[in-house]
Amino acid sequence: MSRLFECKRCGHCCHGESTVSIQKDEQGRIAAYLDLELDIFLNKFCVKKGARIEMRATDGHCVFYGGDGLCAIHPVKPAPCRIWPLHRSILDDPMAWEAIKADCPGFPEGSAYEKICELIRSHDAED
Ligand code: SF4
Ligand code: SF4
Repeated sequence: MSRLFECKRCGHCCHGESTVSIQKDEQGRIAAYLDLELDIFLNKFCVKKGARIEMRATDGHCVFYGGDGLCAIHPVKPAPCRIWPLHRSILDDPMAWEAIKADCPGFPEGSAYEKICELIRSHDAED
């Protein structure tokens, strides 16, 4: 991605008792990637939380987090997983940057807030 950020594959962002929301188009893409009918994918790998659909958590991590520390659906993972940890909230709030940095070891020691903002803006410009 950049020397300003390098994923250490620690898996921290894939752990927890809940995961991220999956949008309708993403559900279809992931089901197709797994070669499953949409309803089978939803029943087997997802949970409904109010109006949201999210991936199941099992053994304290996302069902797609592999024993090798990698994401089993990496090419089609949901948008929040693709974006993390370069979340746009960082641009509006240095405290958000501090919180995300504390949660993710992929930022080198002494990373500067402004440099990370530039990196996020450059990604936005590519979209
Ligand atoms: S917490 Fe950061 S370094 Fe660890 S797997 Fe997630 S993105 Fe990579
Ligand atoms: S879809 Fe992949 S990247 Fe996203 S939480 Fe699950 S294992 Fe992690």
